[in-house]
Amino acid sequence: MKIRNYIQVKTVEAFHEAAKAADGPITILAGGTDVLVNGREDDVYKDCTVIDIFPVEALHGVCETENMLLIGACTTHEAISHDPLVKQYAPILAEACGAVGSLQTRNRATIGGNLANASPAADTMSALAVLHAELVIERDGEARVEPMTAIFTKPYKTNLAQNDLITTIRVPKQSPNVRYDYVKVGRRKVLSISRMTVATLLEMDNNGVVTRFDMTVGATFPRPMLFPDISAMLVGKRPSEQDIIGVAKALSDKIPEIAGIRKSTIYKQPVCRNISERSLRKLFADILK
Ligand SMILES: Cc1cc2nc3c(=O)[nH]c(=O)nc-3n(C[C@H](O)[C@H](O)[C@H](O)COP(=O)(O)OP(=O)(O)OC[C@H]3O[C@@H](n4cnc5c(N)ncnc54)[C@H](O)[C@@H]3O)c2cc1C
Repeated sequence: MKIRNYIQVKTVEAFHEAAKAADGPITILAGGTDVLVNGREDDVYKDCTVIDIFPVEALHGVCETENMLLIGACTTHEAISHDPLVKQYAPILAEACGAVGSLQTRNRATIGGNLANASPAADTMSALAVLHAELVIERDGEARVEPMTAIFTKPYKTNLAQNDLITTIRVPKQSPNVRYDYVKVGRRKVLSISRMTVATLLEMDNNGVVTRFDMTVGATFPRPMLFPDISAMLVGKRPSEQDIIGVAKALSDKIPEIAGIRKSTIYKQPVCRNISERSLRKLFADILK
């Protein structure tokens, strides 16, 4: 891989200094599992100063505030999938991170890189969408917070400037009553890029009435999306079998509506419908009895 210069930094401040001082374009390097693959084929990074942020300790690990989990952008998928706080307060994310690639990939690949790379097939996106996660992004030492879904413009493109550093993924802590399901469909069981993910998160009151519901599909739309109209189909209801069939149909109808009719539509639409029905029947098993 051809590059102009390589700088390794150990603090976020050093990153900002290096980014400011760089002559020409910069590329952030975290785990490198996307950067090295992209750089292998041609000369995409030949004019770039590559700034390696993986050694920045402050960007690794998970901590909590009263309402939020704060996940450092360089935390690896493997670390997140086993983290006790994530398993307790956002288990759908632990599952999504555990579904990424192989153990070798998960041990190096980071959550920040997964998002900034903006592949529609990124496994964490559908889970982070239904969790209503936010990103802390720093530019020249100034931090801003954006909804996770807001940074994506189209496949492999974000609105991040080259010196925008994702420092933290903020995930609202989920109560123990929250039910979730995460399904990944790939061409094989392990080490497979998603053909589709379906992520569902919901909460009910003591009478089985849904108080909160989000369901989305990954690896299908140009960017991660939430669907308030789908949420509204169940919120305030004690769901019936007919409701489940209706939600699964409405979600799968989003595929041609948003992504257009493609070769994969004939496969993806019924798969989405079947998985969604299955997920919802599992989540509402006690209500449907
Ligand atoms: C064999 C293999 C299997 C894979 N399987 C899967 C899979 O099953 N599911 C899946 O989702 N992905 C998979 N991937 C893709 C990849 O591993 C993930 O997207 C990974 O999370 C990227 O993280 P990274 O740290 O390696 O990113 P890098 O390669 O270091 O960076 C990726 C992009 O993000 C930018 N970037 C990185 N960190 C930041 C930051 N903090 N702020 C701003 N920009 C940043 C970089 O500049 C670059 O553009 C696979 C890759 C390989 C090689």
